[in-house]
Amino acid sequence: MLIFELSSKGRRGYKLPELDVERLEPESYLGEYFRESLNFPEVSELDVVRHYTKLSQLNYAIDTTMVPLGSCTMKYNPRINEELASLEEFKNIHPMAPEEYAQGTLKLIYELSELLKRIGRFSAVSLQPAAGAQGELLGLLMILAYHRDRGNTKKRKVLVPDTSHGTNPATASLCGFEVITVRSGEDGELDWADFESKLKDDVACLMITNPNTLGIFERNIKKMAEALHRQDALLYMDGANMNALVGVARPGDWGVDVMHFNLHKTFSTPHGGGGPGGGAVGVSERLEPYLPVPLVVSENGRYKLEWKRPKSVGKLLTFHGHVGVMLRALAYIMSYGDNIERVAQYAVLNANYLKHLLKDLFLDPYKNARRMHEFVLSTQNLLKQGINAMDIAKALLDRGFYAPTVYFPLTVKEALMVEPTETESPQTLERFAQTLREILELVERNPQDIKSSPTRTPVRKIKEAEANRKPILRASWA
Ligand SMILES: *Cc1c(COP(=O)(O)O)cnc(C)c1O
Repeated sequence: MLIFELSSKGRRGYKLPELDVERLEPESYLGEYFRESLNFPEVSELDVVRHYTKLSQLNYAIDTTMVPLGSCTMKYNPRINEELASLEEFKNIHPMAPEEYAQGTLKLIYELSELLKRIGRFSAVSLQPAAGAQGELLGLLMILAYHRDRGNTKKRKVLVPDTSHGTNPATASLCGFEVITVRSGEDGELDWADFESKLKDDVACLMITNPNTLGIFERNIKKMAEALHRQDALLYMDGANMNALVGVARPGDWGVDVMHFNLHKTFSTPHGGGGPGGGAVGVSERLEPYLPVPLVVSENGRYKLEWKRPKSVGKLLTFHGHVGVMLRALAYIMSYGDNIERVAQYAVLNANYLKHLLKDLFLDPYKNARRMHEFVLSTQNLLKQGINAMDIAKALLDRGFYAPTVYFPLTVKEALMVEPTETESPQTLERFAQTLREILELVERNPQDIKSSPTRTPVRKIKEAEANRKPILRASWA
């Protein structure tokens, strides 16, 4: 397997010197540091282990329960990934190690970029962005550079659908663009007439998620690319939902100019605690000159960092980037061999099976649309009993399941956004549906019981508004 070949290269390459505390010069900083006793409280190993084990048990995690958070793609993260991500040869390499000592890491970056190029059909890929949102930032910086390069100063607007993830308008506005919202139609897809009427010559790009956050495929994506290109505007695709497409369809074929992958979502890295993540960005030929430096290139079997790229937007992340996330992504992709499309097939199958199991429980605002890897339902039918989407979410917590995403996308009232991912079994999906069924029976019989949920979680029902306005962010050790 490639990974082991990589690691053996790393072993030959670079080894950190052992730190010999005894032989440190007395006047050296480190000598002082080790002689002074540090004034930490004494805690036994056993107490530490118990403390952290208990903390971990307070948490909901994919290792203990299904986490159907729509848009977040909380799939199982195979243990082999963790083993590979902690290989000494990658973990201990000095960030400033010269190229000839970092061949394993550079090869990893090169090989993963090549795979992502093929998966998305892009001209080039940069692995620098640390997360999806930073990938968006890079994408828009490159789009800015592209228009500036052509002397086109009119391009001040970015079109964003009303179903978009919050990071899309936030990024556009961070880059100084004016954000223009485009409506979605009754079918959940971008409203063509509204799009066309807003696509003037001052539009720099459209940022669209496909499949969109309703889990619905944007069938006009090719037509959108053509219309944008006619106006010398570009197409940004938010690739957070690539788990619905990987191995089946390639955004580059549709005319997408730039797309971020969420490596930690589509290609499995534990996430949700704030990182580190991976927001690899793929580009069409149009944007290739603007990619960040350095790019990893291969020459006669050696790997080099290429810095001479005069039109580059600069550097985005220090050193080699989030190598652990790259290793996990490479392992996930390679473990599927030539069958990476299984990811998309099972993700879509699972979502559709679960949607079928839930069909008579909630309202489906897009009944006739075909769903991909996730779907959005509405709990508006329960409002008459005084129950909202948040109550259903909390009731699930009481019954051992993590909750779906709620109140997103904003176009659906009382939204429950469900994404089971490809790693859940049909039995788990059936248990989840059965649990929701029982919750709804209780809504009929005793809505107050649901209203007071959660009662079995470490933290009971809280006042949402107060918790947001006056959060308690400090632990008390008393
Ligand atoms: C998760 C997500 C993002 C942001 O990605 P991060 O890696 O969390 O920064 C953007 N768009 C969509 C649709 C997402 O689901």
